[in-house]
Amino acid sequence: MQFKGTSISQGVAIGQAFLYQPYIYEPTKKKLASGDYNEALQRYETARRLARAELEGICQKLDDQEEAAIFRAHIDILYDDTLDEEIRDWITNDGYEGDWAIYSAFEKYIQILGKGKDQLIRERVADLQDVKNRLLRCYAGVPDRDLGKLEEPVIIVTHDLLPSDTATLDRSKVLGLVTEVGGATSHSAIIARSYGIPLLCVPGATELVDHGDLVIVDALEGKFIVSPEEDATNIYTKKRKDWLARREETARYRSAIPVCTDGTRVKVELNLGSATPEELDGADCTDGAGLFRTEFLYMGRSQPPAEDEQYELYKKVLLRFGERPVTLRTLDIGGDKTVECLKLPKEENPFLGKRALRLCFEDPKMFKTQLRAALRASAHGNLRIMFPMVTSLDDIRRAKAFVQETQEELSAAQLAFDAELKIGVMIEIPAIAMMADHVVQEVDFASIGTNDLTQYSLAVDRMNPSVAEYYQSYHPALFRTIGLVAREFRRADKPLCVCGELAADPLAAAVLIGLGVRELSMGISAVASIKKLICALSLEDAEKLARRVQELATAKEVEDYLKTALKKIME
Ligand code: PEP
Ligand code: MG
Repeated sequence: MQFKGTSISQGVAIGQAFLYQPYIYEPTKKKLASGDYNEALQRYETARRLARAELEGICQKLDDQEEAAIFRAHIDILYDDTLDEEIRDWITNDGYEGDWAIYSAFEKYIQILGKGKDQLIRERVADLQDVKNRLLRCYAGVPDRDLGKLEEPVIIVTHDLLPSDTATLDRSKVLGLVTEVGGATSHSAIIARSYGIPLLCVPGATELVDHGDLVIVDALEGKFIVSPEEDATNIYTKKRKDWLARREETARYRSAIPVCTDGTRVKVELNLGSATPEELDGADCTDGAGLFRTEFLYMGRSQPPAEDEQYELYKKVLLRFGERPVTLRTLDIGGDKTVECLKLPKEENPFLGKRALRLCFEDPKMFKTQLRAALRASAHGNLRIMFPMVTSLDDIRRAKAFVQETQEELSAAQLAFDAELKIGVMIEIPAIAMMADHVVQEVDFASIGTNDLTQYSLAVDRMNPSVAEYYQSYHPALFRTIGLVAREFRRADKPLCVCGELAADPLAAAVLIGLGVRELSMGISAVASIKKLICALSLEDAEKLARRVQELATAKEVEDYLKTALKKIME
């Protein structure tokens, strides 16, 4: 039986399902049976000591100091005075059983923090849940069911993993993970991606398998197969082998310096979303952050982030990248990305409506808050500011005026910022690409957003699966447009980057280099394979590919030609 899933961490795994249900105990509201609260207090104290011993054991086993810090924080929660007082109060003054006292005291703070505006605070709820479950389990005298003691390599199928599950997990015995919940930035997702464990999110997964069933996780194509036929097992055994070989081969290039065989240096940069530790980990092996999508900071909250919160995040990212440039893209909301905190009106055609810069012009207060935070952060590193969804020279001039006004305000308030800060735009709309000769006079740099450039050039909604076949990334018109922009930026000797998905696709990246692009920005997972391509390519080869692609008539012709030509080059 085959089910659909969302790939959270890429890869393929085959193995026996290990159905994991963490200990969750929801006590009922009961008054002390014996009426003797001393006994309940003593039992609570013993449970607390036991939980502390378990946590200390976890800390000792962990090599990673950052992870160990999570569990030291759990000990602090366990011994938090306010929580302790409230638990004792529920027992002694209100006369309730110890388990209900623990549950109620923790739940109170879980509810409060869960409603918090700050995402970091909301994320602490998982820690409180974790400590609550541990303490309740110890109170009930149930031993720990630890994922660190797996006997055979397995595929874990679970509702979700708590921080303590992932920390104690014996990673050498985990072939794959299937969770019912958890997005791309969940705790399980971060751990899975950083250890290269394939992870699929499949709603209702724990109902689909029995403990010990043979299962396949195809987190390349989003498939979860339970009790496969022999044919499928053979096909997927080979698919896993190929995936492991590819991963090992390309990983060697992650830290390489990307230089073509003739010595041409191409910068490989990083696309950042929520600036998670895992994303920032790529800072050391790249030439900077070519695209920092700041809109993620506005998502999943009821109020937009305040200036100081934004400043702290931008500063953290800049410090991590040191002298290397970080290209901060101002808010790109609208279109496919909506945020609850900015009550946006519903539009018939959101991709053609009040999106990105248009929205910022309409809400100058919000725009200026972001610019102030970014400019203040610019004192701590090498910041570049970039505006999305630019249609005309008017847009560019208007956005620059906002920056200037903000700089004047900061100067008046004697707040530090980088006065040499570079300002650029995204080229995502055909009209602005056609104006590249003018654009280049107005900006310090530009970056081509091929995801939107494709959507707007081919008049095809990038989110609508029913027109997916018309979203042709290899359409020759796109390469002609990019060629035109690249020519103007080379002539003016100003930097031009490509930060859409095309930069992460080796077939297309070779053409982009041939067209004159010298900066490619992508997610960390593509870095090794793009560096590998660059190191195998000569500029002469790349220019030949670019010339030919611009002569071809259809996307299919381009794709077939590139596949054959690149195969020869990479041999
Ligand atoms: C793009 O459009 O190519 C791009 C990088 O921006 P986003 O995908 O965030 O719209
Ligand atoms: Mg875009």
